[in-house]
Amino acid sequence: MVRSILTINSGSSSIKFSVYGAGPDPERLLSGKLERIGLPEGRFSAESGQGDVLVSKELSLPDHGGALKELFGWLASRPEDRGMGAVGHRVVHGGSKYTVPQRVDKTLLNTIRELTPFAAEHLPHEIKAIEAVSSAFPGLPQIACFDTSFHRTMSEAATTFAIPAEFRAEGVVRYGFHGLSYEYIMEELSRLEPARSKGRTIIAHLGNGCSMAAVNEARCVDTTMGFTPLGGLVMSTRTGELDPGIIVYLLKTRGYAPDELNVLLNRKSGLLGISGASSDMADLLREEAASPSAALAIEVFCYQARKYIGALSAALGGLDTIIFTAGIGENSPEIRARLTKGLGFLGVELDVEKNKKNGPVISRGPVEVMVMKTNEELMIARHAWRVLSPS
Ligand code: ADP
Repeated sequence: MVRSILTINSGSSSIKFSVYGAGPDPERLLSGKLERIGLPEGRFSAESGQGDVLVSKELSLPDHGGALKELFGWLASRPEDRGMGAVGHRVVHGGSKYTVPQRVDKTLLNTIRELTPFAAEHLPHEIKAIEAVSSAFPGLPQIACFDTSFHRTMSEAATTFAIPAEFRAEGVVRYGFHGLSYEYIMEELSRLEPARSKGRTIIAHLGNGCSMAAVNEARCVDTTMGFTPLGGLVMSTRTGELDPGIIVYLLKTRGYAPDELNVLLNRKSGLLGISGASSDMADLLREEAASPSAALAIEVFCYQARKYIGALSAALGGLDTIIFTAGIGENSPEIRARLTKGLGFLGVELDVEKNKKNGPVISRGPVEVMVMKTNEELMIARHAWRVLSPS
C-alpha cells in the first residue's frame, strides 16, 4: 500500500526533499535539505512535520548521487519511509511534449535528456536525481512534475518570439517556469476565494528566481520568463530582460565562449551584478542606506517588476487580484510597497498596516493584493498522488 510519497527538488548545489503521507491532500511528515553539494562544508538537515529537528549535520556531499545516497540511507531508518510508494520530482522543462505531470519511463527520460540544452542549468541535476532513485529503488514509480505545464494555455502570440520561423519549429518559444508554485497558489485561491480565482490575477513569485504569471479564468495568459528561466524580471543573479544586442556586443568585444556567457548572465548578473555586493534582497535592504549600488539594485528590481505588472495587466485587459509569493514576496513589506508604488491608476493601493503584517490581504483599493506562502513540494505530492490514483 502507498503510505507515503517522497518529493525531490534538485538545484545546482542543493536538493530539497519532503515526505508526505499519501492521499488527495497529503500531509507533510518531514522535510529537509542537502546543501553545498560539490562544495566544502556540505550540510544535511531535516525536520518533522511539526518542526522538530530530526537531523542537522555537516558532511561531505561530493555530488548529487552521493547526496541522494546519504538521504536514502537516512530515510531507511525513519518510520515515515515505510510504505513509500512513489517519488515526485520537480522537472524544470517538459518541452512541448510533456504538458502535464507524467510517470517517468525510458521515453520520458530520453526526451528530458534531449531537452537539456533548453535548461542546461537545471535539467542535468534533475535527471541525476531520477537515475539515482531508479538504481536505489528499481520499479518504484517516479512522477515528473514540470514547471512549464502551468503555462501550456498561453496563446501563440504570447509564446512566439520574433525570430525566423525555423527556430520556433525546433522549440524556441516562450515556455514559462515556476509553474508548480503558480498551480499551488491558484489551488489555494480557488479554495479560499472561488469566485476571485476565476478573475484576472497576476501572481508575483519573487524568490531567488523571480517571475510573474497573468491568469484569467484560471488559465495562464502570459508570463515573464521565456524560453529559459533567464528572461523577464531582475533576479538574484540572473539578468531578466536584456536587449539581445548586448549579447552580440559581448560576443564581439569579449569573445566569450558559450559557457562563460552563461555564467555571466545566470550567475553574476541581477541583484548581485548591479550591487556588486550581494544577491540576497534582505542583505541589500540592510545595506542600501550606506551603499548607493545596493540602493540602485533594489530600485531597478522594483521598477522592472512594476513595469511588468503594467504589461501583464494590459495582457489581461484589467486586473482584479495581485498575489505575492516566495521569499521576497512573502516576507518583504518594503519591496511590496515600493514595487506597487504609483499603481493607483490600476486600482492598486496597499494598506500600510496590513502590508507590515504580511497579509493575507494587504490592499485597500479595488484590486485585492494578497500575500500567500507557496508550497511547490506539496504540489508535487498532490500531482504524484493524482497520477497514481486517477479519479
Ligand atoms: P529560492 O528561490 O531559492 O527558493 P526564496 O524563495 O527562499 O529562494 O527567496 C530568497 C530571497 O528572499 C532572498 O533574496 C532573501 O533575501 C529574500 N527574503 C527572505 N526574507 C526576506 C525579508 N524578510 N526581507 C527581504 N527579503 C527577504
